[in-house]
Amino acid sequence: MDREMIEVKNLVYEYIRRDEDGNVESINRAIDNVSFHIKKGDFVAILGANGSGKSTLAKHINAILYPTEGSVWVNGLNTLEDKNLWNIRQTAGMVFKNPDNQIIATVVEEDVGFGPENLGVPTEEIWERVEKSLKAVGMLEYRSQSPNKLSGGQKQRVAIAGIMAMMPQCIVLDEPTAMLDPNGRKEVISTVRELNRKENVTVLLITHHMDEVIYADKVIVMEHGQVVMQGTPREIFSRVEEIKQYRLDVPQVTELAYELNKAGLDLPPGILTIEELVESLSKQLKNVK
Ligand code: ADP
Ligand code: MG
Repeated sequence: MDREMIEVKNLVYEYIRRDEDGNVESINRAIDNVSFHIKKGDFVAILGANGSGKSTLAKHINAILYPTEGSVWVNGLNTLEDKNLWNIRQTAGMVFKNPDNQIIATVVEEDVGFGPENLGVPTEEIWERVEKSLKAVGMLEYRSQSPNKLSGGQKQRVAIAGIMAMMPQCIVLDEPTAMLDPNGRKEVISTVRELNRKENVTVLLITHHMDEVIYADKVIVMEHGQVVMQGTPREIFSRVEEIKQYRLDVPQVTELAYELNKAGLDLPPGILTIEELVESLSKQLKNVK
C-alpha cells in the first residue's frame, strides 16, 4: 500500500439535483465504478472526451468531492475520513485550466507564498520555498512583477510554483494547457516533467493534447464515467481504432504511421515520435532495395 500514491477503488460519484423541498430531481452518474492506482513518482495522463468524468475524478483526489460509493486513498489516507482532510490537501495539489482564476496576489512572489503561508509555514521558510519553486518553473526573474503582465504560459507556471511551494507529493493538473498557445503549452509541460523527474512529484495530468501524453508512464482513458483503456502510451496508441471510438485523437506521428500501414507499409504499431517513424521507415526502404 505505501508505494501507492493514489488508490481508487470501485469509485462511483453521482451529481444529485434536488428541488427546493429536497426531493431528488435528477441523478447524473459522472463516475461509474472506477478503479486504478498510481505509484509514487509516476507520471500518469488521463484522456477522455468532454463530459467523460475527468474533472470529477480529479476533484476526488484532493477531497473537493467525496465518493458516493467506493473509496479513494491518497498516500494511504482515505478521503472519506474528516481527520485526513488537511493532510490530503497538503499531499495533493491541484492546478486548474484557467490561470487567471488561480492567481490572487498582485506580485508574483506573494502569490507563490500564499499557499505555504496558509499552511502556517514560518516566514523565513516561506521565502526559501518561494525562491526554490519560482526557480524550478523558470520564473525567478519575474518574482517582483505583477502577474497581470505575464503570458498565459507564464501565469500557469506561477500557479504551478504556488502549488509546489506547499511541497505536495502529488500534483493533479486539470487541462493546465487548455487556454495556452503552443509555446505556453511546451513551457508548462516541460515544467511538469522536470518536477516529476527531479523532485519525484507524482503527476496526474488531464489533457486533450496527445503530444503531452507520450511521456507519461501510464495513460488512463475515460468514457462515460468509466475507465475504458489503461496502459503505457505505446500500448494505448497502438489501438488507433479503439482510441477514435472514444472520440479521441492519436499523436500526429502515430496517425501518419497508421495510415502508412493501411497503405501497405509494415511499420510497428504505436510509433510515438518522429525519430521512431524515421527509423522504421528507413528499415522498410532498405528492405525494398
Ligand atoms: P470532463 O472533465 O471529462 O469533461 P466532468 O467530470 O466535468 O467531465 O463531467 C462528467 C459528467 O458530470 C458530465 O455529464 C457533466 O455534465 C456532469 N457534471 C459535471 N459537473 C457537474 C455539476 N456540478 N452538477 C451536475 N452535473 C455535473
Ligand atoms: Mg473537465
